[in-house]
Amino acid sequence: MAESTPRPPDATSPLVLSTRELPRGAGEMREVTRTAPAPAGLGLPLIGVPEGAELELELRMESVSEGVFVSGTVTAPLRGECARCLQEISDTVTVHIGELFAYPGSTTDETADSDEVRRLQDELADLEPVIRDAIVLELPSSPLCSPDCAGLCAQCGQPLAELPADHSHETADPRWSALAGLKDKLGDS
Ligand SMILES: [Zn+2]
Ligand SMILES: [Zn+2]
Repeated sequence: MAESTPRPPDATSPLVLSTRELPRGAGEMREVTRTAPAPAGLGLPLIGVPEGAELELELRMESVSEGVFVSGTVTAPLRGECARCLQEISDTVTVHIGELFAYPGSTTDETADSDEVRRLQDELADLEPVIRDAIVLELPSSPLCSPDCAGLCAQCGQPLAELPADHSHETADPRWSALAGLKDKLGDS
């Protein structure tokens, strides 16, 4: 692994949980409810959580033999753009997380690769990568303003939903089609 000693998480970040108050011992549990500003780049190119928007964390930390299990929900506002008609989308996403942070020196710590399991560092659990993975997994790569969005008119680029049902760019004038019919007749005879 390239990073043998990763930097400890920033204890002042609201997305870093301190487990110092949590006694070691199976069954010990603490609930954590807090809001935290969203970090930058939380999402996909077409939809994501705006930087600084409020993430609502409703979590619990549980002591298990190998470490601390953090689980619960994170709710965040979403802003995006419809992949078909480019209109702005506002939505909310709620993701469930459940992640073991292994104690340094635990069997899990010593037997799992560094990219397989997360670890407590200085008794801190960094939730940012966990929340990022959960939210990105939940987001559609092609978000739609509505499931049946008709998209844009291929000719003029206007959203079809805002155009009349008979919107068309064909210059079909009945007089011209009558003439065309006459021409066909003359050509036949
Ligand atoms: Zn749309
Ligand atoms: Zn058009």
